Amino acid sequence: MNEVEHQDPIKGRYVKIDDTNNWKPFPPPFAEGGITWQLLNVSPEMGSWAAIFDCPKGSSFHRHIHIGPGEYFLTKGTMEVRGGEGEGGSTAVAPGYGYEPCNARHDSTHFLEDSEFYMTFLGPLNFIDEEGNTVAVITWEDAQGAWEAS
Ligand code: ZN
Ligand code: ZN
Repeated sequence: MNEVEHQDPIKGRYVKIDDTNNWKPFPPPFAEGGITWQLLNVSPEMGSWAAIFDCPKGSSFHRHIHIGPGEYFLTKGTMEVRGGEGEGGSTAVAPGYGYEPCNARHDSTHFLEDSEFYMTFLGPLNFIDEEGNTVAVITWEDAQGAWEAS
């Protein structure tokens, strides 16, 4: 008879977000301009992960596609998503909330001033090059690995 491996139930958790401690550089292949982050949680139940990002003025994320939907809460600053309003995207001003659907393509995510936002990713991020070829697919496990390695 096959055995199903016993898994302990996933427990609830609380993470104190401190202003000074525990910020780590977001891996350079995926952003530039000094973005740091804190991975707050990963959920194998949902295939999701949640993080808060500190984004200095002028920083940006590299081109990516959200394989699953994502929700963000901009707690500080100004963030241009999908090129910002001037290019048909969104310009979020704190405090601001946004939803990005499955397959949302983010060619340009820029921060016009020192900013901070929380985001939950339901599924992986697919980082792509200009032609749309996959550079890296970041699942919750990869996010956890990157966080633990840094
Ligand atoms: Zn770059
Ligand atoms: Zn994005």
